[in-house]
Amino acid sequence: MDVWDNILDTVRTFPQRVRDLPVQPQVTPQQLRSVLAPYDFEVPRPLGAVVEDVNRWLTEWTVHVTHPRYFGLFNPSVREAGVVGEVLAARYNLQLAAWSHAPAANEIERHVLRHFTALIGWNPDASMSNFTSGGAEANLSAVLGALTRRFPEVAERGLGGLSKRPAIYLSGESHHSFVKVARQVGLGTDALRYAPFTKGWTLDPAALERLLEHDRAAGWEPLMIVATAGTTGAGLIDPLPDLADVAKRAGVWLHVDAAWGGSALLSPRLRTHLAGIERADSATWDAHKWLSVPMGAGMFFCRHPEAVKQAFAVVTSYMPPETGEETLDPYATTAQWSRRAIGLKVFLALAELGTAGYAELIEHQAVMGQLLREGLVARGWQVVNASPLPVVCFTYSDLRAGRKTVAEILATVYRRNRVWLSGVKLGEEQVLRACVTSYHTDAADIACLLDELHIALSAV
Ligand SMILES: *Cc1c(COP(=O)(O)O)cnc(C)c1O
Repeated sequence: MDVWDNILDTVRTFPQRVRDLPVQPQVTPQQLRSVLAPYDFEVPRPLGAVVEDVNRWLTEWTVHVTHPRYFGLFNPSVREAGVVGEVLAARYNLQLAAWSHAPAANEIERHVLRHFTALIGWNPDASMSNFTSGGAEANLSAVLGALTRRFPEVAERGLGGLSKRPAIYLSGESHHSFVKVARQVGLGTDALRYAPFTKGWTLDPAALERLLEHDRAAGWEPLMIVATAGTTGAGLIDPLPDLADVAKRAGVWLHVDAAWGGSALLSPRLRTHLAGIERADSATWDAHKWLSVPMGAGMFFCRHPEAVKQAFAVVTSYMPPETGEETLDPYATTAQWSRRAIGLKVFLALAELGTAGYAELIEHQAVMGQLLREGLVARGWQVVNASPLPVVCFTYSDLRAGRKTVAEILATVYRRNRVWLSGVKLGEEQVLRACVTSYHTDAADIACLLDELHIALSAV
C-alpha cells in the first residue's frame, strides 16, 4: 500500500476500529526488542514497508487511550482536526521561536490563547499566555513568574542571595509536577509546604491561612498557593474563591492548576464550578486533556506579563530581530526555545466544533460520568469522591473489609481486557478510579464497565 493511503486509512478508520481492539497490550520488552532487531539500519528500506511494520506494532502494542472504554488517566480520544493540525505542523516544519519566522502560526496561537484567556475571565490585553509542552511546563512557568515578580533580583543572582526561603503551598492531591518544579528552580522540595485537607480532600483555606502565618514566623517567605481545579487523582476542585481571599490577604501569588478541569470553562453548565479562577495570578490548562487534541498541548496563562518576560528574557545576535511592539518572540518570553506549532491543532479543533460544539462534547462526558456514578451506587459500590467532573473514585464493602484488594479487581479487569481503569490512593484508602476520557464513550460503554467490575468482584 502507498504510504499516504496507509496513513489516511489509519487516520480515517482507526476511531471505529479501536472499539474492537483489546484496550491494553500483552507484551514483553523482549518481544518488542526482537521485532526491532532486524532493523539494523544497514540497508535502506522503502518507507511504505516500514510504515506497515510500525502501524502493526502501534496497533498491537499500545494502551489504546482513544478507546471509548479507556477509563484512565486524562488521555483523550482525539479530534480529526487535531490530527490534521499535527500533519500540517510537521509538513511545514513550523518554527515559532521567533514571531517573524512563523507569523501565521504565531498569530493563530495568539488568537486561540486570547479566546481562552477571556474564558478564564481576564482581559487578554492585560495578561500573557503561551502554549507549553504540557501542564508540567506551565506549572514551572508559573513558579518562575512568581519568583521573578516577588524577587526581581533572582533572575540574575539566583536564590542564594535571598535572606528568606520562598515556599509554595499546595495539597497532597496537587499534581506531582511541583516536586520536579521545586527541584528545577532550585527551591528544593522542602519548599513545598503541604496544607491540610478538608474532609473531601480539598485544600482547607482556614488551615492554610494558619500555616502561612506559622511559616512566616518560622522564616519562610510564602510565594505561591497552588489551587487545583480538577485534581488528577479524584477530579476535586479546591475552593477557589476562598483561596483567592487567603492569597489576597497574605499577598501571595495564586496559581490555579486546571490542567484537566480547565476545559469545563467551555461549558456554560460546568464552568460555574471553576468560579474564582478569574482571581488567580496564573493558570495551567492542558488542551491535550479534555480538549481532545493530540499530545502535547499545554497552556500557561498569567496576569503579570512583565514578570514572565523578565523570567525568560534573553538577548542574542543570532536570532532574528524582534518584529515590533505588537508581537512577542516566544523564545524570549517562554521556557522553550525551538518551538513547534502546538496551537494549530487546537485552532483547527475549536474552529471546526465551535464553542457550543465543544461544550456538547465536554458535557456529554460529564453526563457519562454521572451515569457511571449512579450505576455504581445502584450495584452496591460506594463512590468516595464528590466531583462534578467525570472522575469517579469508588470502593466496595469487600474491599473495605479486606476480603479483596483493588489490585485483584484490576488484575481481573486487565486480563479480560474489555475496559481499562486504574487505582488511586485517596487519603489512606486504596480505591478504584474511572475517568470518562473519551467523547466517544456512550451508555453501552458505561454498562460494559459496570459489568466488568461486577465480574471482577465475583471472581475468586
Ligand atoms: C496532567 C496534569 C499535570 C501535568 O500536565 P502534563 O501535561 O502531563 O505535563 C499537572 N497538573 C494536573 C492537575 C494534571 O492533571
